Amino acid sequence: MNYTITAESIYIHIPFCKTKCPYCDFASWANKENLIEQYFDALLFEIRTKCEAYKSLELRDKNRKVKRTIKTIFIGGGTPSLVSPELYEKLFSELKKYFEINNDCEITMELNPGTAREDYLLGYKNLGVNRISIGAQSFNEKILETLGRKHSADETIDAINKIKLTGFTNFNLDLIFSVPGMTKDIWIESVYKALDFAPKHISAYSLIIEPGTPFEHIYKQNKNSKALIEDDFAFEFYSELCKILKQSGFIHYEVSNFAKPGYESKHNLTYWLAKEYFAFGVSAHRYLNGMRTGNTKNLEMYISSPNHETIIDYPINYNFEKIMLVSRLSNEFDVDLIEKVTTKNRGEIRNLLKDLSNEGFIELSRDKIHLTEKGLFVNNEILLKLI
Ligand code: SF4
Repeated sequence: MNYTITAESIYIHIPFCKTKCPYCDFASWANKENLIEQYFDALLFEIRTKCEAYKSLELRDKNRKVKRTIKTIFIGGGTPSLVSPELYEKLFSELKKYFEINNDCEITMELNPGTAREDYLLGYKNLGVNRISIGAQSFNEKILETLGRKHSADETIDAINKIKLTGFTNFNLDLIFSVPGMTKDIWIESVYKALDFAPKHISAYSLIIEPGTPFEHIYKQNKNSKALIEDDFAFEFYSELCKILKQSGFIHYEVSNFAKPGYESKHNLTYWLAKEYFAFGVSAHRYLNGMRTGNTKNLEMYISSPNHETIIDYPINYNFEKIMLVSRLSNEFDVDLIEKVTTKNRGEIRNLLKDLSNEGFIELSRDKIHLTEKGLFVNNEILLKLI
């Protein structure tokens, strides 16, 4: 079998958190810091054994370069900023055995307010981390409390000051809107507060009540759904956000992501452009050689058997994946792409597109579709209509 890897990006998952937020369904755990060292041993083992396997599979195919150049690394979680630079040093030296990591590689680390230590930040910077993503979520104490976040707005400000003092200039702030009890004024105030710190990038997400989380119990099963923000109102939050950030010189390049020119997240763009990537750690999913595989979501199981992975999707319906992903971007895309995946005929598609254009969800020019702000907000619903 022809085995070819084109990936130039690596995702590393660090699943430890100080506390578990009640809306979070990520693979992350509180009060398990005693497992950090064992987790890193497992992570290193996974990198070593899988990279050796990739190497031999590729070499069997043709005489490829042994070391692959990596353009982006994303250390996400969880709360990666809970872990000492010494452990990351081991991680990077393992990665460097298999990958070429140049100075221009975008290396992002997620950080949660309340965990920013100056000595750790300096250590991360010395290892090559050059982009920090801060889970600010809000600058309003009441909203932070509703979200069950254990940090205060002052701790976020303290974290931003520390990363700036360490010399990080490229940082992202994560914000959440449509939180129960949030008014438009509270939201706008948080957006302006975020801008005061001159971030290069802002990611803003509407609160989603995920199945199996305490928030599902509070807001859905307890029939407390009236407290949730309705979709029309959520769009007003989104629209305000887009307006303010546009006026402040940000490019709205993906549904939830805004960047100063040149500061778009290169790593996340690899996902949205349907490119391949490596991934290591508990619950990590990778896309290599046309196949999606994933690791266990059980922390202890991962530590005891870090090499195990299961096939998530193969063969991948590449055109379907591509349209689901590129439609998240603000760039236009070809009508052709829809025709490749839909069961509808050309006439039906044209009629649907005209309707969507009349309703203000898309702009149509020749054979290109461009989702408007209103369209981006409901991009999945639009695609489901077309496909
Ligand atoms: S800090 Fe982030 S990863 Fe950790 S529990 Fe909260 S939302 Fe989830």
